[in-house]
Amino acid sequence: MQCDLCGKEAELYRTKIEGTVLNVCKECSGYGVVLGKAKPQTPNIPKQVETPRSAEEPEKIETIVPDFAQIIRKKREQMGLKQEEFAKRINEKESLIHKIETGTFTPSIKLARKIERFLHVKLVQEEVVAARPVGFKKTEASGLTLGDAIKIRKKSKK
Ligand SMILES: [Zn+2]
Repeated sequence: MQCDLCGKEAELYRTKIEGTVLNVCKECSGYGVVLGKAKPQTPNIPKQVETPRSAEEPEKIETIVPDFAQIIRKKREQMGLKQEEFAKRINEKESLIHKIETGTFTPSIKLARKIERFLHVKLVQEEVVAARPVGFKKTEASGLTLGDAIKIRKKSKK
């Protein structure tokens, strides 16, 4: 802790100087009336550990390309396969293939990967979601009181 008057790093005393209570070092406490020892604040501020790592890093999500139906149908026809044959090859029901090719059913990532491998097409795309800005990293250096820091911490924690 630093003395409110001279800025010296020292053990501080709550001292009433000209009507204001300040945390000052032993030397500066001579300017006023010492009320007691100042409680150290900084060591009591908990280190920021609540923020999950994923909130700071860009997130990658996998999505199925919007025109998956045409891609699959086109490629399947190019390979000379009927829906029935194609379904058998990838161990799925013909009705499912029909639904996928008409766009009424969006395949799961897992199924899309299987179709990708079989047809040699691209059905899954990766999207990078921008990271959320991380605030209040410098709690200890920002000059906030312990009370403020706790209030903000509670607010930002979801
Ligand atoms: Zn001082």
